[in-house]
Amino acid sequence: MKVCIVGTGYVGLTTGTCLAFLGHDVTCVDVDEAKIESLRAGRIPIYEPYLDDLLAEAHDKVRFTTDYGEGLNDAEVVVIAVGTPSAADGAPDLRFLRAAADSIGENLGSGYTVVVNKSTVPIGSGNWVDSLVRESFERRSDAAGQFSVASNPEFLREGSAIYDTLYPDRVVIGSDDDRGLDVLSRLYRPILDQSFVPPPFLQRPAELGAVPLISTDLASAELIKYSANAFLALKISFINEIGQLAEKVGADILHIARGTGLDQRIGPRFLQPGIGWGGSCFGKDTSAIIATAREYKLDMPIISAAHETNRRQREIVVDKLLHELRIIKGRTIALLGLAFKPNTDDLRDAPALEIAQRLLDLGARIRLHDPVAMDRLRAERPDLAPFLCDSAETAATAADALVLVTEWPQYLEMQWGKLAAAMRRPIMLDGRYALDPRRLTAAGFRYFALAGWNPGGDTVELDY
Ligand code: NAD
Repeated sequence: MKVCIVGTGYVGLTTGTCLAFLGHDVTCVDVDEAKIESLRAGRIPIYEPYLDDLLAEAHDKVRFTTDYGEGLNDAEVVVIAVGTPSAADGAPDLRFLRAAADSIGENLGSGYTVVVNKSTVPIGSGNWVDSLVRESFERRSDAAGQFSVASNPEFLREGSAIYDTLYPDRVVIGSDDDRGLDVLSRLYRPILDQSFVPPPFLQRPAELGAVPLISTDLASAELIKYSANAFLALKISFINEIGQLAEKVGADILHIARGTGLDQRIGPRFLQPGIGWGGSCFGKDTSAIIATAREYKLDMPIISAAHETNRRQREIVVDKLLHELRIIKGRTIALLGLAFKPNTDDLRDAPALEIAQRLLDLGARIRLHDPVAMDRLRAERPDLAPFLCDSAETAATAADALVLVTEWPQYLEMQWGKLAAAMRRPIMLDGRYALDPRRLTAAGFRYFALAGWNPGGDTVELDY
């Protein structure tokens, strides 16, 4: 099938590469010329495991362009994957979506095309995109083709985006036109049936059978995405709220999380305590669902509370340091991990940046390190660039405290004795419950976690 992807960021590039690997003929369009140049030259502008390997396998089926006409030429499916960041009032900023819809209408081919919205958009955006595409399409003198609009929300996680796309828990498609749904189920057939030969570097999980397809109307598909993200966000905030109580009563939050999550009705995933969520989706999407509900005079008290709890977790990091160090002015605090989670270089709504700013505001000196996100930080936050250190060890030298903000694997196994000896005060605040308190204590650290009592030294496998 001929497919055009509009917006070649984390979602668009992953989707385009996977569809090309499955045998579709893919053209990725983006307005960012530098990004397209870089992709044409074989340089991938984001850090995402296996993306380069898969792109190498699929290179003869995928092209990159800034020209909509070239991208849309005869495409049966056009996938919109442009950004939908939050505006100041929490509602999504739909500027990029509007521009993409206009350009699609201006360049639509003469056959039948399904315009699929993969960007996370407010409920009702499908109809809006339909009207925008139609308006710009009908302005043309040569408008001859037909199209319908569908929604196909994306559930991938950065850091395991290729795995999540090839081996998803489900595929959701929504349209008010059966013809569009039929085209999309053909597009995803190899994934739904798992009939493709897996790439050698990313084997199919043994237990995976056919992938469920949820085929529904437009509004339901759009709301499924918000519902899923809001639920995941509140699971994390829930366990963090319990963590605060656990600390007061002297209980172990890791045992509580495990004892709660082993109930099959609840499940262990996204029940890991810590600094909380960040990234481009949870904050934005929970704000968006609250903003949409407000238009209908509905409150979303559970989702609002999850938001507030998550905000507080970042404050708790600074409060804990204040409590531990008493005076924070002039002290040197090193933050390990800047990306909002391991295996990505994405810094959008990353807790580390907010914590760094608060520490600076309080007069602390900061040092920052991340295994992959430092170049992105230099580009996106040049004001913080002077605080970057070339290694975790350099960041720790003569520091008064270390904070594990992002649980990159390389931070979990370090020469703790050497590190403690190099610090002014060997204090470790483990923001992710990822380190072994017994080992750190034996190495000379004063170890503490974000909340709760953890004498057993268990660590959790983090998964979000
Ligand atoms: P991104 O910012 O990485 O990529 C968006 C791309 O769209 C950029 O390359 C930008 O240059 C391009 N673009 C903007 N306007 C354009 C236009 N008019 N025409 C063509 N290209 C244009 O964003 P992302 O993280 O890939 O997210 C895309 C959407 O997917 C968002 O709605 C997001 O909420 C949703 N989503 C993201 C994730 C994730 O983990 N990143 C997961 C699920 C859903």
